Amino acid sequence: MESIQAVKGMNDILPGQIEWWQKVERIARQVLEDFGYREIRTPALEKLELFSRGIGESTDIVEKEMYVLEDSKGEKLALRPEATASVVRSFIQHKLHADPLMQKFYAIGPMFRHERPQKGRYRQFHQIDVEAFGIDDPMLDAEVMYMLRIFLERVGLTGVVLHINSLGCPECRKAYRKVLQDYLERYADALCPDCQRRRHTNPLRTFDCKVERCKELLEGAPMLLESICSECAEHFERVKSYLKDLDTPFVINPRMVRGLDYYMRTTFEVITDRLGAQNAVGGGGRYNGLVKDLGGPDLPGIGFAIGMERLILLLQQESEEQRRSPQVFVAALGEAARQRAFLLTQQLRNAGLETEMDYEGRSLKSQMRRADKLSARHVLILGEEELARGEIQLRDMMEKSQRNLPLETAAEVLKGICGGK
Ligand code: AMP
Repeated sequence: MESIQAVKGMNDILPGQIEWWQKVERIARQVLEDFGYREIRTPALEKLELFSRGIGESTDIVEKEMYVLEDSKGEKLALRPEATASVVRSFIQHKLHADPLMQKFYAIGPMFRHERPQKGRYRQFHQIDVEAFGIDDPMLDAEVMYMLRIFLERVGLTGVVLHINSLGCPECRKAYRKVLQDYLERYADALCPDCQRRRHTNPLRTFDCKVERCKELLEGAPMLLESICSECAEHFERVKSYLKDLDTPFVINPRMVRGLDYYMRTTFEVITDRLGAQNAVGGGGRYNGLVKDLGGPDLPGIGFAIGMERLILLLQQESEEQRRSPQVFVAALGEAARQRAFLLTQQLRNAGLETEMDYEGRSLKSQMRRADKLSARHVLILGEEELARGEIQLRDMMEKSQRNLPLETAAEVLKGICGGK
């Protein structure tokens, strides 16, 4: 009999993989709880209306990506495509706003979107989701992004960039909508059918379009960030200044609009260049009108979600690379230098550093090529001249810097730099 396979785009997480998930979840809980967030779990299935009202009727998520079903009574339900709307619903339903200690939440669990599966994009995926209510001060915006950075650092993710933008308030958006519509009208015929429609229903969403021609046309579009009101601009200035105080690097990306309608003012994404098209590891922003729109009190909110699959893919890639590459590569030119380099290689290994050398007396150029292929972070170069002076050249391949070290203490110095066993 034919065996039954899992649903396309929905993955099993097997032993061997699950350890990564456990580690990421453990560190998330530690970091988030240190910042005063408490765990909340909401159902995977909610009333459809929660998402269409919460996320916005004319977003891709609501228009195209939701798993919608009808129960036997004819009630329309949806598998949650994201967590914010559910957490807000729960916050309102249980009147958690009445308790000053119940304003900051995190949720970990599966989300469902009917997208075309590819690396880093699935139909069931998992998020670590964070939501904070009741505080409008830009200090919280900066703190939330700082917390995200601390979490990513603790799990060991490197090489990601924090993109930030301000989407203004509903007032500035109203004025901008018209400006953008006028711009889009000029190119109406060249836009894809989706953007033709978005132009009328929700013009800001054209920035999300993946069609190359639309992306090109939007290159020249007027930017919302340039026309936000003075209060929104002041808020954004303070967010940036607090981020600087917290030593949290960021770039301003005025084209980042995020895929959900509830955002206003601060929005942000953590971007990688190592996952192909799926370049966002996490993202979030402020959503001051949402609690009220979903029937609660008029309380501000801000939050973000991290995609666990993407985060774990990156962590695995990184650990693979680290496992494969030696920390130090020793290159030598000339027989005497080669012999000395051979000794140094053993000294470095004894100091606990993974070290490779060239045994075949090849040219410096081909030795450097090999060091590069192995992705060695540090290369030590010993030529006849250096040997005569009792020195060796150290190149840091990542920082692209070089300096000379005394040959005698080179192993000690490298151990200090790389932190040997
Ligand atoms: P969003 O709020 O849509 O930006 O989603 C937040 C994060 O969830 C993204 O930055 C991704 O890391 C992750 N994510 C969103 N959609 C998917 C998907 N279909 N598959 C895997 N991860 C996803």
